Amino acid sequence: MDAEEFRRFGKQMVDYVADYLENIRDRKPFPDVSPGYLKELIPDKAPDEAEQWPDVMKDIERVIMPGVTHWHSPQFHAYFPTANSYPAIVADILSDAIGCIGFSWASSPACTELEMVVLDWLAKMLELPDCFLHSSEGHGGGVIQGTASEATLVALLSARTQRLHQILGDKFSHSPDEGIISKMVAYCSAQAHSSVERAALIGAVKVRLLETDEKFSLRGETLQRAIEKDREAGLIPFFLCATLGTTSVCSFDNVLELGTVCEKEGLWMHIDAAYAGSAFICPEFRPLLNGVEHAMSFNFNPHKWLQVNFDCSAMWVKDSRLLSDAFNVDPLYLKHDNQGAIPDFRHWHIPLGRRFRSLKLWFVLRLFGIKGLQECIRKVSITMTGPFLSPIQRLFIYNVNNTITFLLKDVKLAHQFEELVKADQRFEIFGEVVLGLVCFRIKGSNEVNERLLKTINDDRRIHLVPSKVNDTFFLRFAVCASRTESKDVKFAWEVIQELTEKISDEKK
Ligand SMILES: *Cc1c(COP(=O)(O)O)cnc(C)c1O
Repeated sequence: MDAEEFRRFGKQMVDYVADYLENIRDRKPFPDVSPGYLKELIPDKAPDEAEQWPDVMKDIERVIMPGVTHWHSPQFHAYFPTANSYPAIVADILSDAIGCIGFSWASSPACTELEMVVLDWLAKMLELPDCFLHSSEGHGGGVIQGTASEATLVALLSARTQRLHQILGDKFSHSPDEGIISKMVAYCSAQAHSSVERAALIGAVKVRLLETDEKFSLRGETLQRAIEKDREAGLIPFFLCATLGTTSVCSFDNVLELGTVCEKEGLWMHIDAAYAGSAFICPEFRPLLNGVEHAMSFNFNPHKWLQVNFDCSAMWVKDSRLLSDAFNVDPLYLKHDNQGAIPDFRHWHIPLGRRFRSLKLWFVLRLFGIKGLQECIRKVSITMTGPFLSPIQRLFIYNVNNTITFLLKDVKLAHQFEELVKADQRFEIFGEVVLGLVCFRIKGSNEVNERLLKTINDDRRIHLVPSKVNDTFFLRFAVCASRTESKDVKFAWEVIQELTEKISDEKK
């Protein structure tokens, strides 16, 4: 393909993408195909002779789209959102064109330097303490990881190395004898994401999933007791992954209490706010992040709710030397003259290669502006005031007086759904609606709720996934696509009501 052809192909693809996204409402969110559907539609070997690009273009609708789950359909309410914006898509074109592998400063200085600047921008938007900024005096700073799972793993492995240094001193080794590593214990709440368990598995350490309180929040006392019990058994507590906005119910661990315990007991506290983190750019939600000053590392995914397409997971650390220490290997071919003067991000994460991902963050921050991004959050999750106020919502109001007028203005999408559920006597809300996730269930057995979920997903007009906490099965309604409007929320609820009647009729 030459440049002239690329211009035509590229422009046609841009048109296709714009049409796809603008008309996505017309597509069913969940595909109607069975495993193996795709291989029936294309040859079983690559073509010997080059084909023409219009033929490839034609196959998108024939081969690909029938098997796509449309995450950006306004009827898609599963998992958590994944961001999708035009500025980020355009930035990715440029990133692909530059096509550098920015593992060190010298491998492409702009790639490292833009990342440092935009992560400082983002840190300031979140009002992170100065110690997390590249521009501060110390050794802190931010880095883009691919996913929150990688951030958790990086934090856990760094904490493990730090603790090995403390225990072994001069005799430090990454793979010590005497089973020290297998005595190390990491903690998280029972509602933490499975990636914490996965990180412990890879790090070959023990992990304890601790019980939460009635709001599904991990409390300081629980951690304190677990640490004491493990120390008595001769084990070595070293790491806590606290979660702000759990995947199952969007609950918030008490990082103020947990942080105090971690500092006292010498544990590394990592905060995983993969989904909820984006909301902290709004002053009314920022109190949820109080206590971050006690964390050694903090992470959230702009690729979930901050308009930056996958993959872009922002991680900040107080002391980047502890990351380099865990991952530093320095072959001659990767050395350069300016080493040490500026971060070489290859020491901050697992892979060597890294894409120029800060471009999409930069485009998005500039083309939305902080106000535009705040609007995207508030469209979903500012609640109404009055007798409906939950304690956590009251906290926002007392903390941020100047937003009261704003809070009074109208009911947002997640709360619109919450009110619809509450108005129907057959249903109950599970947990608390703080951001864009509403957990709900039919009052009754797990079986009837499982049947409802299956009926909804078989029907295909909307798409949801369930969760289970303390043996209670419930449905999760997440406001996902940026094109979701009030009428879509209403539509989803009408579908759910209709199918609830259908299953209760079937039972009779
Ligand atoms: C989505 C989510 C994750 C996993 O995110 P990846 O970036 O896909 O690894 C981890 N933790 C929480 C709380 C999440 O919501």
